[in-house]
Amino acid sequence: MAQQVSLDFLGDLRRTHSCGALRPADEGRRVLLMGWVHRRRDLGGVIFIHMRDREGVSQVVFRAECDAALHAKAEQLRSEYVIAVEGPVERRSAETINPNIPTGEVEVVAEKIWLLNTSETPPFPMEEHVDVSEDARLKYRYVDLRRPHMQRNIILRSRISLATREELYRQGFLEIETPFMTRSTPEGARDFLVPSRIQPGNFYALPQSPQIFKQLLMVSGYDRYFQIVRCFRDEDLRADRQPEFTQIDLEMSFPQEEQIFEVIEPLIERVCAEAGFEVKAPFPRMSYAEAMRGYGIDKPDLRLPRFWPVEDLFPPDAGLTPAGLPLVAIVTPKTGALSRKERDDLKAFGQERGLRVFDDKKRLERDFPEPFSQVLQRTGATEDDLLLVCGWGGGEAGHRPEETVFQACGQLRLHAGQKYNDRHKLLDPQDFRFLWVLDFPMFEWDSEDNRWMAAHHPFTSPNDEDLDKLDTDPARCRARSYDIVLNGVELGSGSIRIHRQDVQSKVFAALGMSPEEAQHRFGFLLEALTYGAPPHGGIALGLDRLVMILAGETSIRDVIPFPKTAKGTDLMCEAPSGATDRQLRELGIQLRRPPAGG
Ligand code: ASP
Repeated sequence: MAQQVSLDFLGDLRRTHSCGALRPADEGRRVLLMGWVHRRRDLGGVIFIHMRDREGVSQVVFRAECDAALHAKAEQLRSEYVIAVEGPVERRSAETINPNIPTGEVEVVAEKIWLLNTSETPPFPMEEHVDVSEDARLKYRYVDLRRPHMQRNIILRSRISLATREELYRQGFLEIETPFMTRSTPEGARDFLVPSRIQPGNFYALPQSPQIFKQLLMVSGYDRYFQIVRCFRDEDLRADRQPEFTQIDLEMSFPQEEQIFEVIEPLIERVCAEAGFEVKAPFPRMSYAEAMRGYGIDKPDLRLPRFWPVEDLFPPDAGLTPAGLPLVAIVTPKTGALSRKERDDLKAFGQERGLRVFDDKKRLERDFPEPFSQVLQRTGATEDDLLLVCGWGGGEAGHRPEETVFQACGQLRLHAGQKYNDRHKLLDPQDFRFLWVLDFPMFEWDSEDNRWMAAHHPFTSPNDEDLDKLDTDPARCRARSYDIVLNGVELGSGSIRIHRQDVQSKVFAALGMSPEEAQHRFGFLLEALTYGAPPHGGIALGLDRLVMILAGETSIRDVIPFPKTAKGTDLMCEAPSGATDRQLRELGIQLRRPPAGG
C-alpha cells in the first residue's frame, strides 16, 4: 500500500515547460513543471528529484535550510508519484553537471510542490536497460509504456504515421475509411467472426485487409486511396505475429508495377529520414525466379552474398545430385576454419532439409579439379570463406522440385551466414538493403488440402502472357504481384489486380471454387467488375514491422502500445474472455461446452 499522504488539487495550475525543455538560457526563469518522480536521492539536508514526463527529465532540488515544510513534503515522495513543482532555474556548478541528459546543466530549485497523486511501488524499475519479464511488462503495460525506450518507440511510430500521411497526401492520395464489420476478405488466414444480435445466426467478419473495398473504391473512381488501417487475422500465432496489426494500405488506378514502386520509394525514403536514416531509391528489382536461383527464398537478405547453381560445371555422372536437379555452391564470407562440430552442425542442418552437403573443399578439388576451380571462379570464394556444395538427397521434392532444392539451400545459406559470417559483421541491422521482388508464381500447392492456393490473394492478376496457363499449367502461371523486402523481412506486398470479370471467374475456378461458391462468396465483387472497373493495383506495408526495424527493436510488441501475447491474450485486460449467459442468449448462441469453471 502507498503511504497515507494528503493530496493537492490541480486547480488552475498550469505548467510552463516540459521536463525535457530546460537549458542554460532559462537561468533565473521561474518555471512550473509537472510529471512523475523518476528517481529520488536524499542527502539529508538536500533532496534531489529527477522529474520525468514524455519529453525528458529535469533535476529538482529541495533544500531543508530554505524551507523545512517543503523539504518535509519532498521526503514523502516515492517513485512514480505525480507532482507539480515551481521555482527558479539555476545553473549547476561545473562538477554537478550531468552530461547524460539534455537538461543536465541546470536544475530547478523548488519553492512550491503539489502532490497530485501517489503510486504503488512500480512492478519493475523505470530504467532503460533493466530486463523485465515480458509477462510483467504486458500486465502492467501502462507502466511499461512510461519507460523511456518505449516512449521513444511509440513517439517514433506516431511520427512515421504522420510522415506517411504527409507523403501520400503530397502524392495525391485520399484517405478513405473502409468497414471493420464486413464479410470475409481472404488473405489466407481464418477470419475473426462477430455475431450479429439483430440477425441471430449471422456473423460479420473482421477484415483480414481492406482488399476488396479498396478495389471497389477504384471501381468508384477514387483513384489513389490510402489508409493506415488495422487488419485482423486469426492465425496460429508464430512468435512475432499479432492477431490485429496495422498496414499502410493503398490502391491506385491505371498503374503498372513501376508506378506503384515510384509511389512507395519516396515514402520509404521519407519514413527512414524521419527515423534518422538515409536510404536511396531506386531499390533493386529482382524476379521471383532470380530470387530463388540466387537465394532460395522470396525475401532475400542482400547483406549476405547469393549462392550459385553449379550443376552445369560438373560432369553429368558426378553423382552429387540427382539428374535434372540443381547443385548449389553456398559461400559464407570470412568464417576462417570451422571446427569439426561446427561443420557437423551445418551438414546436419542441410540434411534435415533434404540436402546432401559436401563441405570438404580438398576432397572436391581432388575428385573434380577442373569443375572445382570453376566453382571458385563463379562464386569468388577465397581460402578464408566457407564453401558448401549442396545437392539433393533424393527425397520427395514436391511440385516445383528445383525450387524445393533452392529453398533448402536458402535456409542453409542463412543459417551459415547468421552463425559464422565474418563473425556477424555483415548483418548490420542499420545497413538497410531494400529490394523489390516481382513476378511471383500465381499459385502455391497446398499439400494439406491437395489443391492450388493463391500465392498472394485471389484478386491478383496473372501475367498477361500466362493467362492461358491458368487451367493448363497452374504451376508455371506467373502473377503480377510484388513484395518489398528489407534485410530478409517482407515489409509489404501487393499486386496489379484482376479488373475483368471473366478473368476473375477463371481464377476462382483455378482455385477449385465452383461458380456457385464464387457467386456466394464474391458475387458482389464479380458484379462490380461488370460496371466499368478500371485496371488497378496497390500494395500494403506492415507498419508494425517497419517501425520495429527503424526503432532498432527485434519484436513488434515493442512498437505496439497494447499488444497481445504469442497466444493472442491481452494480459492486462484479460481478453479474450467469456460472455455472460444473457449476452449469449441475445446472440442466439449456445456453447457446445460450458467454459471452464463456468
Ligand atoms: N491486401 C494485401 C495484403 O494485406 C495487400 C495488397 O495486395 O494490397 O497483404
